[in-house]
This record gives sequence, structure tokens and C-alpha cells, in this order.
Amino acid sequence: MNLIQHFVNGKVFPGSSKRNGKVFNPATGSQESEVSLGTKNDLDQAVDIASKAFESWSVKPPIQRARVMFKFKELIEKNSDELTKLIVSEHGKVYEDAKGSLTRGLEIVEFACGIPQMLKGEFTENVGTEIDSWSIRQPLGVCAGITPFNFPAMVPMWMFPMAVACGNTFILKPSEKDPSCSIKLAELFSEAGLPDGVLNVVNGDKEVVDAILTNKKIQAVSFVGSTPIAKYIYENAAKNEKRVQALGGAKNHCVVMPDCDLDQAVNGLMGAAYGSAGERCMAQSVAVAVGKIGNELVEKLSKKVEALKVGPGMDKGSEMGPLVTKEHLEKVRGYVDLGVKEGAKLVVDGRNIKLQGYEKGFFIGGCLFDHVNRDMKIYKEEIFGPVLSVVRAKNFDEAIDLVNKHEFGNGTSIYTRDGDTGRTFASKIKVGMVGINIPIPVPVAFHSFGGWKRSLFGDQHMHGPEGVRFYTKLKTITSRWPSGVRSNPEFIMPTMK
Ligand code: NAD
Repeated sequence: MNLIQHFVNGKVFPGSSKRNGKVFNPATGSQESEVSLGTKNDLDQAVDIASKAFESWSVKPPIQRARVMFKFKELIEKNSDELTKLIVSEHGKVYEDAKGSLTRGLEIVEFACGIPQMLKGEFTENVGTEIDSWSIRQPLGVCAGITPFNFPAMVPMWMFPMAVACGNTFILKPSEKDPSCSIKLAELFSEAGLPDGVLNVVNGDKEVVDAILTNKKIQAVSFVGSTPIAKYIYENAAKNEKRVQALGGAKNHCVVMPDCDLDQAVNGLMGAAYGSAGERCMAQSVAVAVGKIGNELVEKLSKKVEALKVGPGMDKGSEMGPLVTKEHLEKVRGYVDLGVKEGAKLVVDGRNIKLQGYEKGFFIGGCLFDHVNRDMKIYKEEIFGPVLSVVRAKNFDEAIDLVNKHEFGNGTSIYTRDGDTGRTFASKIKVGMVGINIPIPVPVAFHSFGGWKRSLFGDQHMHGPEGVRFYTKLKTITSRWPSGVRSNPEFIMPTMK
């Protein structure tokens, strides 16, 4: 059985753990690899190495760091087919979708190539007479990232390219369900000329995560995953005096107004609800049908959901692949059962899908519920599967109220032809990322990604300008160079004259 180990100090690191996790191919349902679940000792060793590497990496001129990023970009492009296949084989999503997610990660690397410009700082001449002042941003030290299973390339790449370009060194703890892509990325970065110890991957589960939270040398923690764990990371990282950004779960609403281009909305919803089998934090899992559009919306959606091509990610014809694990499949099925019990109308039932040759794969077909209401668990909780709930709202205000009262606030979108409605929605909605006639409003690399409410604990979003702020600290220097006249001691608070 293939054993996936750690990557520390520029090479494979076996670590000292006796515990291994199982890595499956979700399409076949068979276990393909084992992953070493690291220990506290493994993590502490990696941090010591990263801490030493920080001494030289942090003082390298940003342009030299940028040159390594450029080379890394080239190597990702060259190896994109292999990286994409790794995503498909361990996560299950379809090839083109996996490739798209890799490209969104690559875009962060491209953004990070411009780091010399972003670290330029600010300068004011004569803040007082012959006194100048300037502000610079300096790296923090060793930073860590803990990532979820659903984007094995993109989410780690929200973090480490920015952190490393800013001059930090990094420990990545990827999801133990699909760790291979992170190892490959670290190898490619090393091949690009990244000095040993700057990017390290330590595989594992709670033991490594807790070791990250308590290691005194780690200065900052970035987390993406479910809300209960995000809260745990936020509280414990803060308790241990670390900077922290912890992105959590989601329940994204797509508001469908009666004046919208309905075919556009239906197509948008299909991709956003069922793409990647709904295992996206920006998946649209609730469609809010406003006014009289409900019946027509459900009718059009149901035809498309029934026609959804479910199959293995490597099949060119597949539109939707399997879920990541058997446990997750059971959880999602359980939510569909619950929705029926709660009284929602199951318009399309994907629970009993069977695929010839893939009988043991973790497949579920697309499911569509109508007449879901705000008291149901299937509305309140994140299902993270290909299950779309249609909620009926009398009017626009009720739709806004639904979105704003939900505990999550990651992404949302509205379909309308009316500019005033679109603008009011963008202004009033309590959500971090908003789309107007855009189904999945994931901000591009040079903006920043993050939700509101219980979808993000912390102050700063990921990548883009917020990424630079998160991975650097501000220092402001005030100076003068008097010659000749010596000033007397001053006992009053200095003010600028
Ligand atoms: P998860 O919370 O189970 O795991 C995320 C990470 O935390 C993994 O690396 C895992 O090893 C670690 N972890 C799990 N349990 C832990 C524990 N008890 N103590 C310490 N560490 C623990 O999430 P997942 O199932 O891998 O990913 C799906 C979730 O991630 C969904 O809720 C999804 O919405 C969310 N997500 C959010 C965003 C966002 O940007 N807000 C992006 C992607 C995914």
C-alpha cells in the first residue's frame, strides 16, 4: 500500500508516528493509500526547521522571493495534468472542475509574484519639521495552515504562496482525506528554488492540529474547514497569543427574483448547487424563490437535476462525481431522509443511484427539495452534498430577511434584471461575498476571500490585499538627522511642529 509521508526541510520526512489514515478513491470506493498521521514531536521538529529557515528567507529581497514564485508558477502549469489527476483520484470531483480549482490556486501564485510592489510601504516627508516617517510591513515568522478536504490544491494555495512571498516560513497540515496534492505542490516549490525548510507539509489529524495551536514558535494560524473546528482553532490560537483567521462552514442562498432571466438563474443554480457534488463552501444550497416564480423554477430545475450526468471524475461525460468518503455519503443521505421526515417535498430523489462498474463508489444523485422552511434542520445546517432546497418567499424583503438571519454568511447571489434590486441586495445583505447574476461569487486572487457571521472567525479574509496584511506586521519609523544644534531634554508629549 502506498504510504504518504510528510515533506520537511526539502525532502520526504517519515516522522515517528505509528498511526496511519486511509485515503480512498471515492469513485471506486477502494482504499488507494495510507497517510502518516503525524505526532506532536513531528510537528515540533518541522517548526524548528521552519524557524531556522526564516532567518535567511525573511531577509531575502522581495524580488528574489518573487523570482521563485515565477518559477513555481511555471512548474504548476507544466504539471497541471498530474496535479489535477491527484485531486480527482482522492477527492472525486470531475477532471475539468478539479483543473479549474487548480487554476484558481495558481492565480494566487501569480498574484504573489507581485510581492515587491505590495510590500512597498508608505513614506511621508516632513511629518514635523525635518522629520520623516515611514511604515513597512515585515514577515511574522513561522505560520501554519490547516485545510479542508474539498479543495486539496486551491485552499492550501490561498495560504502558503502569500505567506512565503511575504517572507514567512510555513507549515501546512492538509486534510488527511486527500493529502497527496499538497505534497506534490511542496515538491514543485522546492524544485522552483525555494530553500529547504521554507514550506513544510506535516500530515495528520487532531494531534498535529493541537500541536500547531500550542507551539510557541508559530506566530499565525490560517484555517479553513467546518464551523465547530474553525471556532475551536480561533479560540485556542488566540489563547496561545497567535494571529488567527478561521474560515468555517456555509449555507449559501441564491435569491431568484420574478423579473430574472429564469434560464440563466436555473443554469447558474445547477452548477452552483451540484458542481463538485455540492462539496464547496460557496455552493448554493438554498434557492429562494421570490413571489410567483417558485413553480416554474422548480419545474425547470427538476428536469435538469434528473438529467444530471453522475459518474467518475475521470469520465469526460461526468458532470458530477462522488462524495469524498463513505461516512460523508451516509451523512448526506441522512439529511435527505431527515428532510422528508421534516415535511419538505422531495422533488428529485438521488439516494438510490447505482453506477455500473462503480457499485462501491460513494455516489449520490442530485436531490431537490421544495417547500423547505426556515425551521427545518435541512435549511439551518450545512449538508455539503448535492442537495438543493427551494424556499418560497413572498417578496424581496422576506428573501433578505432569510439570508440575514441565517447563522452563516459566506456567499450569496441574486438573479434579477433590475439594477435597483441588485444594488439594494448588495448593500443590505449580511454576507461576505455577493454575486449579482453570478452564481458562485468567489473573489479572484487580487481581491480577498472570506465570509461573515459564523463563516469566518477573525478579522482578515484570505489572499489578495488582506493576505498581505495577515502575513505581515506593520512597523512605523520616525526619524530625523539633526546636525549642529543639540536640543534640550523635552518633558512634554512631542507634537509635530
Ligand atoms: P473539517 O473541519 O472536518 O476539517 C478541516 C481541517 O480540520 C482538516 O485538516 C482536519 O484534519 C482538521 N480537523 C478536523 N477535526 C478536527 C478536530 N476535532 N480538531 C482539530 N482539527 C480537526 O472540514 P472538512 O470536512 O475537511 O471540510 C468541509 C468544511 O469546510 C465545510 O464545512 C465547508 O463549508 C468548509 N469550507 C469552508 C471554506 C470557506 O472558505 N469558508 C472553504 C472550504 C471549505
